[in-house]
Amino acid sequence: MTLLTQEKTLAAKVRPDFPILLQEVNGHRLVYLDNAATSQKPLQVLETLREYYEVYNSNVHRGVHTLSARATSAYEEAREKVSRFVNAATHQEIVYTRNASEAINLVAYSWGLSNLQRGDEVILSVMEHHSNLVPWQIVAQKTGAVLKFVELTETQEFNLEQFKSLLSDKTKLVSVVHVSNTLGCINPVREIAELAHKYGAKVLIDACQSVPHMGIDVRAIDCDWLVASGHKMCAPTGIGFLYGKLDVLRSMPPFLGGGEMIADVFLEYSTYADVPAKFEAGTPAIAEAIALGAAVDYLMQIGMDKIEAYEHELTAYLFEQLRKIPQVKVYGPQPAADGTGRAALAAFTAGEVHPHDLSTILDQAGVAIRAGHHCTQPLHRYLGAQSTARASLYFYNTREEVDVFIGALKEAIEFFAGIFG
Ligand SMILES: *Cc1c(COP(=O)(O)O)cnc(C)c1O
Repeated sequence: MTLLTQEKTLAAKVRPDFPILLQEVNGHRLVYLDNAATSQKPLQVLETLREYYEVYNSNVHRGVHTLSARATSAYEEAREKVSRFVNAATHQEIVYTRNASEAINLVAYSWGLSNLQRGDEVILSVMEHHSNLVPWQIVAQKTGAVLKFVELTETQEFNLEQFKSLLSDKTKLVSVVHVSNTLGCINPVREIAELAHKYGAKVLIDACQSVPHMGIDVRAIDCDWLVASGHKMCAPTGIGFLYGKLDVLRSMPPFLGGGEMIADVFLEYSTYADVPAKFEAGTPAIAEAIALGAAVDYLMQIGMDKIEAYEHELTAYLFEQLRKIPQVKVYGPQPAADGTGRAALAAFTAGEVHPHDLSTILDQAGVAIRAGHHCTQPLHRYLGAQSTARASLYFYNTREEVDVFIGALKEAIEFFAGIFG
């Protein structure tokens, strides 16, 4: 019952902000359940983009004229908003990047190449997104550092005990995902950071699937870096951010060279600007950064605690319904009865039906879910699954949409049973 009241006060309240959700797809009302890949954007964010281009489009940090001053202050105000959103100590700890992938590459190329040596160890986990694997593979190949992997427990969660056994004085970096985009498990990042720091290792948290869905406090986690993408938290594509502790960021060499990141340039050498400018070479994604600030405003106005609570209720309902379909096997931990303990997404298989076929059939019913390896191919291999289908929810999704999804899923399973059976 609480779900219905919550729904009226949250999803029902916010849906007018997302006109894209009002359309029909293949003759059915769109049910968008691919939020772990990218979220939809509210009007408040779209209007921010439009206003920038209609009213004060201008380059930042370069001009003294009125439009440039306005663009610069909006761009820097957005940084303040992101900084407060994750409780950074100062706005200087927030570096704008294109997305989370670029943020991880920044740390890998800047910090990794200049700090890792042959025999040093980097601890990742088997559930990492390709974005938190490939950059470290490249750096390991260049430096001779060794990659170690945390495996899963029986309930398909982060194996903290095994992680402890991997830690040693050789450990220089622990880089792990906060919330898995496939398993939906929530990793104990605070404890992971504390343990890693005892060995003097640095800690990077991939927060792509947590920042949009729950309140994040980088100082409570005590990570050295944290990365996220704007496009999964109601902001446009092309903007993400890297949080780094101020002294850690200051100790790192530049990643990309060019305009904006310098103090003085001579023909033979240059001196660099202080952080965060040091890591923002060239004209940035100005409108997108300002719109990221608008997205943060939007989420904070709703309240991350409300978003989290509402998603728990939807999660409980989603899993209750999925459990009733015997062919469906969901990966990752089960939620508690109140929907807590995991993210509002379900990566699953349905008997012999290929996830791509499932997704295609569901699309005919207007339901958008993802099929594939969700950029966690090693995890799928580890789980012994070629691919999975994934439904992922956000705060604007409703219980009725879960019903439509479940109905279409049952029909698809029956349809294929008819073919194969
Ligand atoms: C989406 C995602 C990424 C990569 O984000 P990009 O926006 O593609 O750079 C990394 N890690 C996780 C857990 C993700 O969900």
